[in-house]
Amino acid sequence: MSTRTTVGIVGAGPAGLVLGSALLRAGIDCVVLEQRSREYVEKRTRAGLIEHRTVETLRALGLADRLLAEGARHTSCQFCFAGQRFSVDYGALTGGAAHVVYPQQFLVRDLISSFLALGGDLRFDTPVTGLREGHNLVLGNGTQLNCAFVAGADGYHGPIRATLPAGAVREYHRQYPYRWITILAAAPPSTTETTYAAHQDGFAGHMLRTAQVSRFYLQCAPTDTSDDWPEERIWKELHRRLTLDEGSVLTEGPVIDKGLLDMHTFVCEPMRIGDIFLLGDAAHVITPAGGKGMNLAIGDAAALAEAIAAHLHHGDSRRLEGFSPTRLARIWQAQQFSDWLLRLINTSPVGDDPEFDYRLRTARLAELCTRSDVAGWFAENYVGPMGVTR
Ligand SMILES: Cc1cc2nc3c(=O)[nH]c(=O)nc-3n(C[C@H](O)[C@H](O)[C@H](O)COP(=O)(O)OP(=O)(O)OC[C@H]3O[C@@H](n4cnc5c(N)ncnc54)[C@H](O)[C@@H]3O)c2cc1C
Repeated sequence: MSTRTTVGIVGAGPAGLVLGSALLRAGIDCVVLEQRSREYVEKRTRAGLIEHRTVETLRALGLADRLLAEGARHTSCQFCFAGQRFSVDYGALTGGAAHVVYPQQFLVRDLISSFLALGGDLRFDTPVTGLREGHNLVLGNGTQLNCAFVAGADGYHGPIRATLPAGAVREYHRQYPYRWITILAAAPPSTTETTYAAHQDGFAGHMLRTAQVSRFYLQCAPTDTSDDWPEERIWKELHRRLTLDEGSVLTEGPVIDKGLLDMHTFVCEPMRIGDIFLLGDAAHVITPAGGKGMNLAIGDAAALAEAIAAHLHHGDSRRLEGFSPTRLARIWQAQQFSDWLLRLINTSPVGDDPEFDYRLRTARLAELCTRSDVAGWFAENYVGPMGVTR
C-alpha cells in the first residue's frame, strides 16, 4: 500500500467519495480513509432529497446513472397549517428545476462502487487518528500517509478540524430550541409530495424515500427522550398533525429506525488552512429543514476537485484561493433558508405567549400560499442555486 498520495481524503461519506472519484477522473491520485466498514456506510440512512444542481454535478462525473434510473423526480411540496393544505409547484416557479428523491445510503453505495471501478484506493476500517506536520495523516495502526493535500471530509465529529492549530478557524454555532423525533418506517408514502405540517402542537413532516419506505419527523418537547415516544404515540401524533389529502389515510408500517434530532447548526471559517481543506459536515452542519446537508457536501467536493485539478494541471491556483470564500457564500445562503423554514414550521417552545407565535407563523404561511413573489423566493431557495454556483 502506498505511503504517499497527492490528496489524502478522510471520510467515505458523500463528500469524500465524490471528491475521490472527481480527482481520479482528472488523473489525480488520492486515497480515501474510512473508519467504518463498507457494510456500515452503505446502510447508514440519512438524506434523500437531491437538488437538481447536485444531480447535474453527479451526472457530469458519471456518477448519476443509477440515481437517475431508480430515483423519483419531484417538483412540488405541500404545507399544512390551520386546517388548510396547499402545494408549492417549485418546478414551475423555477422553470423546471426538480429534486430527485434517492436515499443517501443508495448513493453512497453507488459512489463506492464507481470509485473502486476507477481503481481507487479506498480503505475501510481505517480510522485516522491525527495529522502530523500538516501533511502526514496518522492511521489507527500507527502508520502514516504523506499527502500533498489533506481533505477533511470526516463529518462533524471527525479528527481533522480538531488537529488544526488554535485560532486557525472560527466556528459559528447555533442551537435552536427545537427537538424532533425522527423515524424511518417500512411504510409506502401516503402522499405524492414532501409534506410539512405546521401544526399548532408542533411540526410533523412526511419525507419521501422509496416506494416501500418513508421518513417522518415529529417535533417534541425539548426535554423529551426517545423513550417518551413509543411507536403507538408516534403514529397517533402523526395522524393528528399531518392533514393529508381528502380521502387519503396515513399508512403505518414497522419502524426501521428511530432517533432524536436536536437542531444544531455550525459553520467553520475558513474552509482552507494552507493545504488542508474541510468539506461537507466537517465544515458546516445544517438542520434537516430544506434537505441541504448532503447537497452542500457534494458541492464542496466537486468545487475542490476542480480547484486542485486547475492548480496541478495548469498552475492556476485562483480556484484554490477562491474555494473557501465561494463555498462559504453558498453555505450561508443555505443556512439562512433553513433558518427561515425551521422557524416557519416549528412551534416555538420559548416566549411568553405561544399563541402569538402560532398566529405569526400562520400569517407567514398564508403569504407563501397566496403571494407569487414569496412562493418564487421559496422555490428558488428550495431547489438550490439555478446558476453555475453549486
Ligand atoms: C436524519 C438525517 C436526515 C438528513 N436529511 C437530509 C436531506 O434530506 N437532504 C440533505 O441534503 N441532507 C440531509 N442530511 C444531512 C446529510 O446526511 C449530511 O449532510 C451528509 O451525510 C454529509 O456528508 P459528509 O460526507 O460531509 O459527511 P458524512 O456523511 O458524515 O461522512 C463522514 C465520514 O467520515 C468518517 N469518519 C469520521 N471520523 C473518521 C476518522 N477518524 N477516520 C476515518 N473516517 C472518519 C465517518 O465514518 C463518515 O463515513 C440528513 C442528516 C440526518 C442525520
